[in-house]
Amino acid sequence: MPELPEVETVRRGLQPVMEGARFAKVEARRGDLRWPLPKDFVARLEGKIVEGLGRRAKYLLADLSSGDVLLMHLGMSGSFRVLRGGDEKRPGKYHHERSKLAAHDHVVFHMANGAIVTFNDPRRFGSMKIIARQELEQEPLLRALGPEPLGNAFDAAMLARACQGKKTSLKAALSDQRIVAGLGNIYVCEALHRALLSPKRRAATIAGRTGAPNERAERLVDAIKAVLHDAIKAGGSSLRDHRRTDGELGDFQHNFRVYDREGQPCPTRGCTGTIKRIVQTGRSTFFCPVCQR
Ligand SMILES: [Zn+2]
Repeated sequence: MPELPEVETVRRGLQPVMEGARFAKVEARRGDLRWPLPKDFVARLEGKIVEGLGRRAKYLLADLSSGDVLLMHLGMSGSFRVLRGGDEKRPGKYHHERSKLAAHDHVVFHMANGAIVTFNDPRRFGSMKIIARQELEQEPLLRALGPEPLGNAFDAAMLARACQGKKTSLKAALSDQRIVAGLGNIYVCEALHRALLSPKRRAATIAGRTGAPNERAERLVDAIKAVLHDAIKAGGSSLRDHRRTDGELGDFQHNFRVYDREGQPCPTRGCTGTIKRIVQTGRSTFFCPVCQR
């Protein structure tokens, strides 16, 4: 499943062809993805200009000149292709094989600048929705989301407050979208290792009794931001299928310190530990039991 850095990489890939551009023609080749497309989907897009392409957690948000917002989610297997002047680009690096089957090309945006942006999604867990901008804050998909981990508002004080009194593990707390939005399993594991904090540690221990952040909270927030920035810089991760469908290698999986590295030596300088895998709330956690306390 594409995680936050992958979605941000996709956003950056689509931005140059979509921002400031008008939808000349829109094809919805089927009536539904994960959910039915709005009945007036095509009509509400055609002729409108994309004023900005943003991201909230793992949602892409295209701000339209009509006052609507087009909300897009890649789901498990969704991807975009951009065709412009005979040159095809596939923004974002993925750990799953991308489908090239035209049968999975469900939505096609023909931009007035000549770019053709195709949404392909074999498993159809992706979604597209159009909502009025003034209703964005009430949108159920977005309303429950916590702060953006890369936003300025997300800091040690905020994270500590959210974890105050929590008896759950740090791993579970960081995986909770209401505490911080869009951090997936991989980046939670990686951030905890960088911060040298055990995934099993109680979440409440990053805050004092008053909810004030301690030094662990500071370290953790720094680690979360650093690992996401590094992953975005590397173009998102590329896991199991190291080879992308177009033959290019993803980059960031080479930088994983613990994720999928069970049995390997811990990369922390001076640490003699071995990476271990445990299962927490149904998901694999990779960590070093020696230096992560
Ligand atoms: Zn270690």
